Amino acid sequence: MPVRNHRCVTRKVGPDHPLAGKTVYIPAMAEASIEALCATLRWMGIESRPTPPSDARTLELGSKHTSGDECFPAKITTGDFLKIAQQPSFDAKRTVFMMGTTDGPCRFGQYAPFLHKVLREQGHGDVQILSPHGEHGYSDFQDFDTAFVRTAWRALVSADILRKLLLQTRPYETLPGEADRAFRESLDDFCQTLEQSCSDSACQMRSLTAALLRARARFHAVPARFDPRRPLIGIVGEIFCRLNNFSNQGLVRRLEDQGAECWMADIAEWIAYTNVEEVRNLRLAGRTYSWEMLKSKLRSRIQHADEHALRSLFVEDFAGYEEPRVEEVLELARPYLPFPGAEGEMITNVGRSAYLALHGADGIVDISPFTCMNGVVSEAIYPKLSRDYAGIPIRNFYFDGQQSDLERDIGIYFELARLYGEKKPYERVFPSRFSPQRENIDMPAVLRRLSGSKLRFPCQWRSGLKKFRCFLSRVMHMPE
Ligand code: SF4
Repeated sequence: MPVRNHRCVTRKVGPDHPLAGKTVYIPAMAEASIEALCATLRWMGIESRPTPPSDARTLELGSKHTSGDECFPAKITTGDFLKIAQQPSFDAKRTVFMMGTTDGPCRFGQYAPFLHKVLREQGHGDVQILSPHGEHGYSDFQDFDTAFVRTAWRALVSADILRKLLLQTRPYETLPGEADRAFRESLDDFCQTLEQSCSDSACQMRSLTAALLRARARFHAVPARFDPRRPLIGIVGEIFCRLNNFSNQGLVRRLEDQGAECWMADIAEWIAYTNVEEVRNLRLAGRTYSWEMLKSKLRSRIQHADEHALRSLFVEDFAGYEEPRVEEVLELARPYLPFPGAEGEMITNVGRSAYLALHGADGIVDISPFTCMNGVVSEAIYPKLSRDYAGIPIRNFYFDGQQSDLERDIGIYFELARLYGEKKPYERVFPSRFSPQRENIDMPAVLRRLSGSKLRFPCQWRSGLKKFRCFLSRVMHMPE
């Protein structure tokens, strides 16, 4: 839709930027999300790629340079980075490896220093490591401006949407491979659209929503027969292992082969959680009324508005599969792991498991690395949670790169899920694709509605000091 007096422009970093002329590699944690994040960096004019697909060499290199005490994702990411370092064309001075970090109770905070140490020992000390910190909702990307952080957020939310469409369609396709093809085409289309999108936030949103609507049309064209009797399995767990098909030995596909449909916790939930954590930490540090608090609240608001704009294109598709707000997840976890006392993925795993049970899931699978602290704590909570939610079967699957009799374990678990599904007290809501006649949605009307939507505070109708005080009271919960 043309914007009056608008000319599309892209804003690239200058040659003096520390990342200019370098290639940033991001661990290929999740299909779609990492491609979209790389496209965001290219949108800024920085060459970026996901690490190449993990394989036996990844494990070999990862095992060689770890002692066995590290978590499995550390082994995988180290192996993948070292594979790049062994390529003939590798130039350490022009290479950047991205490895997020955090404080907090688990070992993730050690990944980046550990990687740095291994690279130094291997003679690649010149490689730069880019480490956005979870304490700021992963928003501290070098000296990139807020436009980058906002675009990266849109990219991650959109990738979550594409993955959700794939998981909702693939189990029901009648022509094998068609859902994967729709997913790949949609992802390529989305990344290309993002890379070439305008720097103006509203204009960019219009191109991204158009790309997502094209994705939606592709998925709708996949020949499929939707059967409401197929069990729905909720997938929670450690973020890397549950999303990385190599690490979890393709568990989601294996569940689908047994006859399940999977609903996976997405990446946006974790980032929303880190935003809540940031606010809590600022309060604890006595900085409730600080510039950092204002920035954090504003970022959460804007992210929530963008997420809403993107997800509202799929209201029909995701009916019954609505993503909870992180506050709801924390509330559901409270009886087991009260939020101000416990931290990390164990809370989101437990809260989301309860949410999935209430939304009619037939079972929950927790995918975690072997010895993962979050996985171990969650596993201790699950028997009580299962009793509280009518006996829903919850099963932990741990991975450390060793082969196990996964098929047998999945088969036994799936039978339990089937039995629970026959007597579960929680109703599922089914979207219209499960009814014989799909509802036709007036997409041009949805687009028109969205093109007029933007982040609005009711304060905008006030003026002067009143307007400013109203704004502060809303963002920081201060009295007007
Ligand atoms: S979440 Fe688990 S696997 Fe990941 S760093 Fe923490 S302890 Fe390790």
